Amino acid sequence: MLKGTEDLFHRTEVLFLKAEQLPIISIYSFTNKDYTEFCKSLNFLLDFLYFLINNADMDYFISEEQRKLKEIAAWIAQEKIAPQRRELDKLDKFPHEILKELAENGMFKIFIPKDYGGTSAATLDLCLAVEEIARVCAGVGTAYAATALAATPIILFGSESQKSKYLSRVAEGTIASYGLTESQAGSDVAGIQTKVVKDGDSYIINGGKQFITNGGEAEIYVVFASTDPKRGARGLSAFIVEKDTPGFSFGKLEDKLGIRSAYTRELIFEDCKVPASNILSREGFGFIVAMRTFDYTRPGVAALSVGVAQGALDEVIKHRKTISFERTQFMIAELAAKVEAARAFVYAAARHIDSGAKNISRYSAMSKLFASDMAMEVTSKAVEIFGLSGCSEDYPVAKMFRDAKITQIYEGTNEIQKAVIGRELTR
Ligand SMILES: Cc1cc2nc3c(=O)[nH]c(=O)nc-3n(C[C@H](O)[C@H](O)[C@H](O)COP(=O)(O)OP(=O)(O)OC[C@H]3O[C@@H](n4cnc5c(N)ncnc54)[C@H](O)[C@@H]3O)c2cc1C
Repeated sequence: MLKGTEDLFHRTEVLFLKAEQLPIISIYSFTNKDYTEFCKSLNFLLDFLYFLINNADMDYFISEEQRKLKEIAAWIAQEKIAPQRRELDKLDKFPHEILKELAENGMFKIFIPKDYGGTSAATLDLCLAVEEIARVCAGVGTAYAATALAATPIILFGSESQKSKYLSRVAEGTIASYGLTESQAGSDVAGIQTKVVKDGDSYIINGGKQFITNGGEAEIYVVFASTDPKRGARGLSAFIVEKDTPGFSFGKLEDKLGIRSAYTRELIFEDCKVPASNILSREGFGFIVAMRTFDYTRPGVAALSVGVAQGALDEVIKHRKTISFERTQFMIAELAAKVEAARAFVYAAARHIDSGAKNISRYSAMSKLFASDMAMEVTSKAVEIFGLSGCSEDYPVAKMFRDAKITQIYEGTNEIQKAVIGRELTR
C-alpha cells in the first residue's frame, strides 16, 4: 500500500463519520474537539488529493490491461527488488528469485504471442514493464529484458514447432539468452568467427561468444555462427541451442561497471552438435535475423533507460539537502522534461512497431539513442546534485550512473544507432 494511504483511509473514515453525524446531532453536541478533528481531516484529504493530482503521471492513454501490468511491475520493483538492490549489485547476485516472481505474475507472458502461452507480445507492454523494473534496478531489468531479446528471433523467424516448443517455455519463465557478440565482432557483426558446419541431420558449432547477458543462467540460447567467415554477413546463420547440449559450456563471468546482477558470460562451443531443425529461418539469413530482432527490441533498451533516469530523478527529488536551491530546481526541471520527452518518444516508437508498420528500424534506433543518452545525462546530473553522497554507494544514484553508461553500449552502441538512422534517411 502507498506510504500515507493507510493514514488517509483512517482520516477519511473519521471525516465521513463526522459528516454522517452532522444532520442528526445538534450543533451544540458537535464539540470543539470534534470540529477541530473534522477540519484537520478535511485539510489532510484536500492536501492528499492535491498531492495526487500534482504527482499523477502524464496520461499516455494506455489500456486498462497495460495499466495493470505496469502496476504489477512497479509493485514487484518496490517490494521485492528495492530491498535487495544494493546487495544484488554489490555481491553480483543473479536475481533468480525475482525473475521467478516476475514470471509468476505473468511478466514473461507479455512478450510472447497468445498462441504460444503468452498474452500480447506488444512492444509497448514490454516497455512499460521494463521501465518500472529498471526504475529500481537496471540489472534486474536487463536480466529480464534479455529473455525477451532472445525470444524475439524465435517469434519473428521460428518454425511452428520451434515456437510451440520454446516460446511456451519462455512464457512460463524459462530464462533465455542472445549470443551474437564475439571478441572481434561487436559492432561489426559480419566479422563473426564462430563456425558452423552441416553434418547430416545436425549442425556442429565451434567457437565462442563474449559478454552474453544471462550466459550460464539461461536454458535457451539463440546463437549466431558462420558457415563461411569469408562471406561476412551472408555467411551467418542463427540457431537455438539448449543449455545442456554436449559441447556447450560457459567461460568467464564479467566483472562489470554496471548492471552487475545481470550476469554476462562467455559462451564456448566445442563440437557442439545441434539438431538441423534448430536453425532459425535458413542458412545465410543470420544477419537479417539479428538486425530485424534489434528493430523490435531496441525500444526495450530505450524504456530501460527511461526507467534508470526516472529512478535517478526520484532519488534527486527525495534528497532534501539541496533541492531548495534555485539552481537545483532548474536542473530538476530540465531533467524531468528530458525524461518525459524520452518516455513519450519510446512509447510512440513502441506503438509504431505494434501498429504493424514496416519502417521501424530508424525509429527503434532513434528511441534507443535518444533515451540512453538522456539516461546518461540525467544520472550524471543526479550524482552532481547529491554532491559527495552521489559518489557513495550508500545512495542509489551512483549505481544508476554506472548502469546508465551501459545503455549507450549494448544492443549496438549509439554510434551504430546513428549509422542505422543515417543510412535509412539518406538511401
Ligand atoms: C553489459 C553488456 C551486456 C551485453 N549483452 C550482450 C548480449 O546479451 N548478447 C550479445 O550478443 N552482446 C551483448 N553485449 C555486447 C554488446 O552488444 C557490444 O558490446 C556492442 O555491440 C559493441 O561492441 P564492442 O563492445 O565490441 O565495441 P566495438 O565494436 O569494438 O566498438 C568500439 C567503439 O568503436 C565504435 N565503432 C565501432 N564500429 C563503428 C562504426 N562502424 N562506426 C562508428 N563507430 C564505430 C563504437 O561505437 C565504440 O564506441 C553486451 C555488452 C555489455 C557491455
